[in-house]
Amino acid sequence: MRALLPGHGASRGSALGRARVRLPHVLDVAEQHIRQDQIDDELARLHEAVDATRREMHSLRARLHGALAKEVGEFLDLHALLLDDPELLHGLDQLIRAGRYTADYALRLQRDRLAAVFDGMDDAYLKSRMDDLDHVIGRIHAHLHQRATDTPGVAGEVLVSDNVAPSELAELQQQGVVAVVTAAGSALSHSAILARSLHLPLVVGNAQALQGINDGDVLLVDGSTGEVVVNPDPGDLRRYRERLRDAAREQRELGRLRSKPSRTRDGVDVALWANAESLEDVAKAHALGAAGVGLYRTEFLFLRRRELPGEDEQFQVYRDLVLGMSGRPVTIRTLDLGADKADRTGLAIGDEDNPALGVRGVRLALAHVEVFETQLRAILRASAYGPVRILVPMVSGREELLEVRRRLRRAGLQLRKQGHEIAGHVELGAMIEVPAAAIAFHGFVDVVDFVSIGTNDLVQYLLAADRNNEALGELYSPLHPGVLRLLRHVISIGAEHKVPVAMCGEMAGDATLAPMLLALGLREFSLHPATLLELRKAIRDSDLSDLQSRAAKLLQARDRAGIERWLKAATSI
Ligand code: PEP
Ligand code: MG
Repeated sequence: MRALLPGHGASRGSALGRARVRLPHVLDVAEQHIRQDQIDDELARLHEAVDATRREMHSLRARLHGALAKEVGEFLDLHALLLDDPELLHGLDQLIRAGRYTADYALRLQRDRLAAVFDGMDDAYLKSRMDDLDHVIGRIHAHLHQRATDTPGVAGEVLVSDNVAPSELAELQQQGVVAVVTAAGSALSHSAILARSLHLPLVVGNAQALQGINDGDVLLVDGSTGEVVVNPDPGDLRRYRERLRDAAREQRELGRLRSKPSRTRDGVDVALWANAESLEDVAKAHALGAAGVGLYRTEFLFLRRRELPGEDEQFQVYRDLVLGMSGRPVTIRTLDLGADKADRTGLAIGDEDNPALGVRGVRLALAHVEVFETQLRAILRASAYGPVRILVPMVSGREELLEVRRRLRRAGLQLRKQGHEIAGHVELGAMIEVPAAAIAFHGFVDVVDFVSIGTNDLVQYLLAADRNNEALGELYSPLHPGVLRLLRHVISIGAEHKVPVAMCGEMAGDATLAPMLLALGLREFSLHPATLLELRKAIRDSDLSDLQSRAAKLLQARDRAGIERWLKAATSI
């Protein structure tokens, strides 16, 4: 019988396939004890399972090749790190020894204990680390019973599961799996990010998926709306075929825009920069005619490892980015590490009550000046190979920027003295993501060469709504009159002082919002290359003078509905 199961779209695209239901790695294990004389055997059994899991991950990693090897490999490395985590392993040993529990029950207790800690952290980024941990624990558990843990995927199937680990996705796709539907998960998880770059449709948070879908059911998955139709009827199938045709036409049309300028109908050029996370992204950005890299988040170099990356290591990464853009500017954001990210280097303060409001971004950098200066030196050295811009995250005001400028000058002098070649001028910019900095932009506009609005954080701080808390629903949304007024304010101050204002938060990559941002005066967008052509199309379809004439009305909108009405009217011209 036909049924419609709602979820959240996490990676776009439609797919039709047979369901393959994978029941959760739930460790539904009853409390079981062993005798004192069985402890050593039980410990050995556990350690063998851990070793087998480790071997399995090594062999999975060895099988990866091509562009995915790096991206997926990093997730596998993270899983391998978790496997070596003394807290996890020692805790298990302790439970078996002191509690005389079976290895299975010890795994369950340890899992629940860690889940409680992660839950208490109240941060979706860290919560998605729990997914990684669950995955690792699930694999160990399977090995305790000598079961294969690889997900058997068959061409034409839709995997339906409680969750999916990033490390599985590429393999599933290679096996021909056409979409993934998960009961839990968030559109901000690593899996979601990876699914988007693999163009694999993914629906998350489809709460009824495990109860409502049986193995072999035919599923129609919509990765945009999050809707899953179980056993679609003829009408659904017709609409699906129409959607496929539309998508193919859209792709062909978008493909034609590769070498076209990002220019409005009335001839105004808009700069489209790329948010790049890897050299593959840089290559794509280059091929799509991006103005440059508008955001490279360097904290990725610091995550998933215990030692800090040294100057030479960082320099090589930054230099390769710069070479990849062959002459177009690359904006390197200095470390935005804090307790909200899975920091293992020990830099971030681990037990902050409220890490989003804690020592992160430039605050952390200035608390560890030796680390910060190492990074500045590495970036400056890369500037010998092409234009580089430095972007500072989480700036609250002028004092921090003056301090950064001072350190930057010092690093430049040192490098020159040591005989390094560096560019004569490296632009320094600030992320506008702390509301007070946005309001008081006039106070530091003279000490920056450019700014980039980080709406992901700006919106959460402005609305007091955690960007990762799904329970807040539409409360976390840029479509709020307060957000629009603040954006307008920042853009106006920049224009007044001839300081370029870009936007690099997710909002900039949403082509449906482009008319609104153009009306507010934004002329520089930075977004993932995957959606660059869509945004270019939206810009080419826009008439700037018309949008400008509607700007006052937009700023008068009193609520989300008013903003949506404005958008609808502006898009239908
Ligand atoms: C932002 O806050 O909008 C941003 C681009 O930075 P991040 O998502 O890395 O915090
Ligand atoms: Mg941010």
